[in-house]
Amino acid sequence: MHSADCPLCKQLQQARTGGHTMHVADLRRVSVFLSENQGFSGWCVLVLKEHVEHLSDLSLDEQMAIFREVAMVAGAIRSRFAPVRINYECLGNVVPHVHWHVIPRYGMDPDACAPVWGFPAEVLRGKAPAESVKHSIVQLRSALSK
Ligand SMILES: [Zn+2]
Repeated sequence: MHSADCPLCKQLQQARTGGHTMHVADLRRVSVFLSENQGFSGWCVLVLKEHVEHLSDLSLDEQMAIFREVAMVAGAIRSRFAPVRINYECLGNVVPHVHWHVIPRYGMDPDACAPVWGFPAEVLRGKAPAESVKHSIVQLRSALSK
């Protein structure tokens, strides 16, 4: 996929111009977004700032630097949302641009042993009102700025 056709490159561009409502913060290598799926409150998607299809196309040093930012976001989620567990996923099956899902899992989880992807869309999406989504973004921004 060329970057001109890539939905994550488009999302990065929207974040740069202030036109993406789910944008949380820019770290050195990734832009952090709150996922549209807030059935698991605090779920974040970290998008590599450049269009790279395969994590393994990057040097090991770069991959480690990215993971440092993944770990920072996980720490921010844990400090503000207190999940039982965090799932870390770098898939690329749907959009081939390196990105990480950092997914908090809670006690009321429909199936704590399963990955979230098998759950119905309405469970993933959740019912969080817009104010609660905004509040989550503010909480994460604050945790990441420390
Ligand atoms: Zn891209």
